[in-house]
Amino acid sequence: MKRTLIALAATLAATAALSQGYPDKPVTIVVPFAAGGPTDKVARDFAEVLRKGLNNQTVIIENVGGAGGTLGAGKVAKAAPDGHTLLLHHIGMATSPGLYRSLPYKTLDDFEYLGMINEVPMTLIGRSTLPANNYAELVKWLEANKGKINLANAGLGAASHLCGLLLQQSLKIEMTTVPYKGTAPAMTDLLGGQVDIMCDQTTNTTGQIESGKVKAYAVTTLKPLTTPALSKLPTLDASGLKGFNVSIWHALYAPKGTPKAVQDKINAALAAALKDPEFIKRQEALGAVVVTDNRLKPAEHKKFVEAEINKWGPAIKAAGQYAD
Ligand code: ASP
Repeated sequence: MKRTLIALAATLAATAALSQGYPDKPVTIVVPFAAGGPTDKVARDFAEVLRKGLNNQTVIIENVGGAGGTLGAGKVAKAAPDGHTLLLHHIGMATSPGLYRSLPYKTLDDFEYLGMINEVPMTLIGRSTLPANNYAELVKWLEANKGKINLANAGLGAASHLCGLLLQQSLKIEMTTVPYKGTAPAMTDLLGGQVDIMCDQTTNTTGQIESGKVKAYAVTTLKPLTTPALSKLPTLDASGLKGFNVSIWHALYAPKGTPKAVQDKINAALAAALKDPEFIKRQEALGAVVVTDNRLKPAEHKKFVEAEINKWGPAIKAAGQYAD
């Protein structure tokens, strides 16, 4: 008994020491999409506030784009479980299990869930040279141009893919999807007129809509948005696509096996970061809402991801979308 207690005390002391020392070198957050895109923007903004709760250590963003976010997630699943390599991913964490026949990781088993960060609506946007000036005109244009429409996305499993998939299903119009490593490069091509339309998070589109560089047609959430530049946009739900509802969420993960004390320290830093008034203000200006509910807790975050997997999986399978 005494020996057990001594061993337990030693373990607790070692764990405490571990978290006190953590992080003892820069922390890398892997973003599984290209630099300059919406996930990247959230991550860079978040990293600035997260570091305050991590002894002001440097937090580096590493962009590992490709295959709809699954390459970056796979890299983190195999990284050393010491809290120095983290993953900031979006809804793709929950849609990729339905979209890929095999993934380079097990979504629910290979990660420690650290908490959710924010929720972001998407907008349906088009190149500035599209003749359609509102959603009704866009639908007419899409119908008249069947077989010639290029729809950009960030690869199978990306939020833009999911939104585009639902759009094609709801409108019963098939489009040619053009995958990129993130919607930052997709936006470059949309601005250049090489692709016609795409769905993207407001964190990436608000500025482009404000400056008139892209045409904005609708928002993907059930409620209209309050951000001034986006408040006049109709919802797809109210525009005839009843029930259309896509809201993107971001969350933080560590490789499975990261010590509990380290996980707790990151979770506390995350919770503190989300209370930072400047961070909240910047997120709101881009149409994003910082999470304040119990999904900040790792167990609830994991439950939520599980529920999202169960929600999207059947819809994706019904659409017959798979990748190897
Ligand atoms: N917006 C992208 C997506 O469609 C991700 C990104 O580029 O950050 O999922």
